[in-house]
Amino acid sequence: MSSTLFPQHVIARKRDGHALTREEIAAFVRGATDGSWADYQLSAMLMAIFLRGMTAEETAVYTEAMMRSGFVADLSNVKQPKADKHSTGGVGDKISLHLAPMIAACGVAVPMISGRGLGHTGGTLDKLESIPGFRVNLSFAEYRAQVEKIGLCLIGQTAELAPADKKLYALRDVTGTVECVPLICASILSKKLAEGTDVLVGDVKFGRGAFMKNRADARRLAEALVTVATAMGTPMRAVLTAMDEPLGRAVGNALEVAESIECLKGHGPADTMEVTFALGEQMLLLAKAAESKDEARGKLERAIASGAALGKFREMIAAQGGDARVVDEPGRLPQAKLKVPLVAPHGGWVRDVDAMGVALAALRLGAGRAKAEDRIDHAVGVSGLVKIGERVEAGAPLCVIHASDEKSLAEARARLEGAIEVGETLRAAAKLVDEIVG
Ligand code: URA
Repeated sequence: MSSTLFPQHVIARKRDGHALTREEIAAFVRGATDGSWADYQLSAMLMAIFLRGMTAEETAVYTEAMMRSGFVADLSNVKQPKADKHSTGGVGDKISLHLAPMIAACGVAVPMISGRGLGHTGGTLDKLESIPGFRVNLSFAEYRAQVEKIGLCLIGQTAELAPADKKLYALRDVTGTVECVPLICASILSKKLAEGTDVLVGDVKFGRGAFMKNRADARRLAEALVTVATAMGTPMRAVLTAMDEPLGRAVGNALEVAESIECLKGHGPADTMEVTFALGEQMLLLAKAAESKDEARGKLERAIASGAALGKFREMIAAQGGDARVVDEPGRLPQAKLKVPLVAPHGGWVRDVDAMGVALAALRLGAGRAKAEDRIDHAVGVSGLVKIGERVEAGAPLCVIHASDEKSLAEARARLEGAIEVGETLRAAAKLVDEIVG
């Protein structure tokens, strides 16, 4: 069949606004996987999809073809229900680190395959790698066995998982075709649905520090994700959350691990815990481990109060070769050479903490990657960040900058001075959990 489908004909059909058939979509995805379509043909097709869009049905067919371009995990060995969450990413978003053990402590297994950060801060894998010895590159057999044994495993994407997405995402990145709902939806779900979860919850963020800048686009993405995942047999809900100021008070890999440990000990920042509970409730509801939001919330709170969630986190670190002593002795996490407070020039109310400004400061310190091959410095970043709506006195710290040298410290300081605004009048923080879609 594919031999009769010349790439130029399939591209022209999408260029002219037609809905593609299952065979045409399969030919495109096969072409990306086996190299039978040239990069210029794949790129032209991506631009045609970007400009013409895809119907809901095309998006579902495309997502499934992308998922099946590689390995699809079978976790039928795991007896518990399985739930995972995906975040579209935000500044200070360390929620997976503590939410996964909280869910596992409630009797729902979490098989999580996660990405690295590219852009303003490190991703979940980079954060976990700040724990000395922690291995994110387990084999699939190790992953499967660990999910069965302790109900929790957090690893990185393997080359076998959705290879078509790997190829197409790299082309999208350099052809101006990233911001397109059907392409994003297929990219996210092809990887997440291949990992073997039963249900999925999305944290779709919008705002200055998010990939989707406005709420309407984020909502369209949330609806597409929920519709396609559910049609493919994986019930999904998405939580729309605001990302204008960083989540929590820490940005940077080891610093965020330390903050997640505080969350597991019951001392998490209010905003971080609000989003954590909103996502966790939906995970337990979808996995049928709770019948109401209140019941789910009660279970999650007890998992923290009893120490069970912290215990799961320790168990996961040890199972993946990491030094679990970091849980009780966070000083064992990488430490930056310089730790310097940025102080308020005058007293007043914190009126703004621009997530993107803080992210760029963290990137300059070395906490994220500007290019895929950049090395991350796990120790650096920002801690003790003030939050919008808080009162500060002149000379009080607005945050502490963790840097490896004076030059990056000075540049990060300048960025942070521009990102944090202290004024005369109180400004309340925006509503964080905006809507549950699905
Ligand atoms: N994350 C992904 O994995 N893919 C996209 O296209 C966008 C965000």
